[in-house]
Amino acid sequence: MWEERRTQVLETARRLCRDGFVLGTTGNVSQRFRGPEGGELVAITPSGRPYDTMTADDIVVLDAQGRPVAGDLPPSIETVMHLAIYRARSNAGAVVHTHSVYASIVAVTCREIPALLDDQVAFLGGEIKVAEYALPGSPQLAGNAVAALGPRNAVLLANHGAVALGRDLREAFDHCALLEKTAQVCALARMVGEARELPRGALEAGRAAFGARFGDALAPAP
Ligand SMILES: [Zn+2]
Repeated sequence: MWEERRTQVLETARRLCRDGFVLGTTGNVSQRFRGPEGGELVAITPSGRPYDTMTADDIVVLDAQGRPVAGDLPPSIETVMHLAIYRARSNAGAVVHTHSVYASIVAVTCREIPALLDDQVAFLGGEIKVAEYALPGSPQLAGNAVAALGPRNAVLLANHGAVALGRDLREAFDHCALLEKTAQVCALARMVGEARELPRGALEAGRAAFGARFGDALAPAP
């Protein structure tokens, strides 16, 4: 069941692999949708299965409490984090977690990325905070990620990787790519000199654009 939803998750996971955002079996992808009876379901990549041999049947479907509804494999180790983000963010339709290189570089410095670029603010919501370290797959990591994510669309996980979300899978993938580009600019800028934050007017305009695009409830506090 839910072939189309599972296929969409698989295709996004393969695209992440093809574009170099994940290696081997790392990273994970999910999307949230309504089942035929109106209940909330989440389709998520399985644990420990290489992307090149993964099929749509391998994608696990869970209910909102994380109980399996379809699929024989164990769900991603980071299922708790995905479900916690969906609970915290009512308009999140898809979540992508990667170990991409530049996001990981900044994540090991444990320094947040200030609001450096117009597209970063307009689409990701402003600064990118770093969630405090906790073991992969732990409830602590899920809580730390939600706390650092706040109302924005991307967060770094200290000494680990990155998470981006969107209203659908395409948007979550695009935000993941924008997060990686932003981290690359930040990392290289810090090697060359000081990375300066956007001027105040540009920051306000970017935040207004973010609020208009993703809803006033998501706009970061001034
Ligand atoms: Zn990870």
